[in-house]
Amino acid sequence: MSEFIPLSVPNFCGNEKKYVNDAVVSEWVSTGGSLVPRFEKAIADYVGADGAVACNSGTSGLHLAMLAAGIGAGDEVLCPTLTFIAAVNPVCYANAKPIFIGCGDSLCICPSLVRDFLEKNAEMKDGKCINKNTGAHIKALEVVHVFGNMANMPEIMKLAREYNLIVIEDATEALGTYYTDGEFKGKYAGTIGDIGVYSFNGNKLITTGSGGMVVSNHADWLEHARHLSTQAKSDELNYKHDEIGYNYRLTNLQAALGIAQMENIENFIAHKNEMHEFYMNQLDGKNGYSILDFREGVRSNKWFYSLYLSDDAKYTRDEIIAKLKEHKIQSRPIWGLINEQADYPKCEAYAIGSAKHYEERVVNIPCSTSLTKEDAQRVVDTLLSF
Ligand SMILES: *Cc1c(COP(=O)(O)O)cnc(C)c1O
Repeated sequence: MSEFIPLSVPNFCGNEKKYVNDAVVSEWVSTGGSLVPRFEKAIADYVGADGAVACNSGTSGLHLAMLAAGIGAGDEVLCPTLTFIAAVNPVCYANAKPIFIGCGDSLCICPSLVRDFLEKNAEMKDGKCINKNTGAHIKALEVVHVFGNMANMPEIMKLAREYNLIVIEDATEALGTYYTDGEFKGKYAGTIGDIGVYSFNGNKLITTGSGGMVVSNHADWLEHARHLSTQAKSDELNYKHDEIGYNYRLTNLQAALGIAQMENIENFIAHKNEMHEFYMNQLDGKNGYSILDFREGVRSNKWFYSLYLSDDAKYTRDEIIAKLKEHKIQSRPIWGLINEQADYPKCEAYAIGSAKHYEERVVNIPCSTSLTKEDAQRVVDTLLSF
């Protein structure tokens, strides 16, 4: 009987055990210790950011980013609807409200739909973008670089200038993705807008178990994020706090893992790229399948692979997932649209038809950096046997 092939598991083939053991031996296991700043510097240097603040998850990083950007009660934030809910919940933690917008074929928020929405529903007043339906200030636009695919940043940044919007990049899935061409050549996902966030959850490109990182070239925003992440303590010795803070710091143990993972990040990305090409070559145009490609002019980390089911596909998304499971192959649907979850049906949602389309037709297939050619071949053969 063949082995189970997981969707996405971590890869600890480097110095992980050694560095974690060193941290344990040193007894620096909590939020103090030298490895946290070292990991922050490793990430900042890698993506070319002026600075970075480590935190205990991508979600807490996004919360810090909202607060550092000054998003607060009564504000509205333009958000994608086809993404993981952790991208949007932090908007609510900051007491602001999301406005959901549909995606383009990149699966990322579509700038021309954002533009449509703003042209129809917003007006500029005293340099502020005001929602004519609610009277609220649309203060920011949040982009998610879905599955490691760069959002259309030239168009996003143009919109941001025209409507005076802060750009928050959820780059939790896109560490290592950068432009190789055009206006932002050499720029990494997460460093193009005003503030960006990475995640090191167990299934992300690199992992610290759980963890996140905020980057920004606004030095004051970063300092504020750091302050908020450490209980907003303003006096080290005397327990003085000047606002309501959080316990959002990364631990030294987690940073030990992160430093070891960073030593292998380029190998991980090379493997992700190789397997993506393999799946594309084997599956494109067969049985109504295709593997979605990543944006041109970008070196993408190709974190997750999207099997797209066209009208010619014999089975639905859920049938494919169930059949793969029978063959001990783990897969998953893309997310449910956020505007349909929890309290979010109350929020505005604009032009989400394309997002609905992709929600119903995309299946993520195994993509671990330890996935062997033989296992990938088994995934392909199984899919073609249906
Ligand atoms: C993983 C992820 C997050 C949250 O990161 P955690 O580290 O799991 O909190 C946020 N947004 C998106 C799009 C993600 O994929």
